[in-house]
Amino acid sequence: MSIKDNLLTIKNSLPAQVKLIAVSKTYPASAVDEAYKAGQRIFGENKVQEMCEKHEQLPADIEWHLIGHLQSNKVKYMAPFVAMIHSVDSLKLLQEINKQAQKNNRVIKCLLQIYIASEETKFGLDKEECKALLNSIEFKGMNNIEIVGLMGMATNTDNTAQIKSEFASLRTLFTEIKSNFNHKNIQLTELSMGMSSDYKIAIKEGSTMIRVGSSIFGARQYS
Ligand SMILES: *Cc1c(COP(=O)(O)O)cnc(C)c1O
Repeated sequence: MSIKDNLLTIKNSLPAQVKLIAVSKTYPASAVDEAYKAGQRIFGENKVQEMCEKHEQLPADIEWHLIGHLQSNKVKYMAPFVAMIHSVDSLKLLQEINKQAQKNNRVIKCLLQIYIASEETKFGLDKEECKALLNSIEFKGMNNIEIVGLMGMATNTDNTAQIKSEFASLRTLFTEIKSNFNHKNIQLTELSMGMSSDYKIAIKEGSTMIRVGSSIFGARQYS
């Protein structure tokens, strides 16, 4: 099937509250353009440089979401345009995002990435670190970021019961923070969970944003 067919098939299957982030990492700008022409406007990248290059080549009304592990020294390159950062995993990184957002006179929407998998290779805060961050004085003083939700990646496994319970644990944390944390820079609405292999499970567990790459663009080739 074509990119357009894949995209529309997935889009048409989604409940109204679920947004599709088309993950275009490693695919050329021409593939993004094909999805754009089929109506897709939100794209996710996991590297800042690749996102900046595509941002320059492609239509200005695309919403770019950074979904991959982020180093503080890269924030400045995307701060003028990035629509959302899904992968915030430290106070230090958030401080840099706040600083660069301020320089650009804007508020950058962020998700805290939470470690829910049983794999050493995945990034993220644990639940206590997440709450400690949101309770910190440094966080409360940030005026140029807004925490709009949480992101998590489940273990890469065929065990659907395990995936389901990892997503459910993220939803539980989301609900807890939503009802117990009140501050002007916390507006929890988004739960970013689910990729090509597990987005159907994630939606059943309350996802509002799925990040899907290979099911739209085809198998990735890493160079
Ligand atoms: C690559 C990536 C995805 C999409 O993965 P697919 O299996 O291609 O759908 C989602 N989230 C993150 C953080 C990624 O790096």
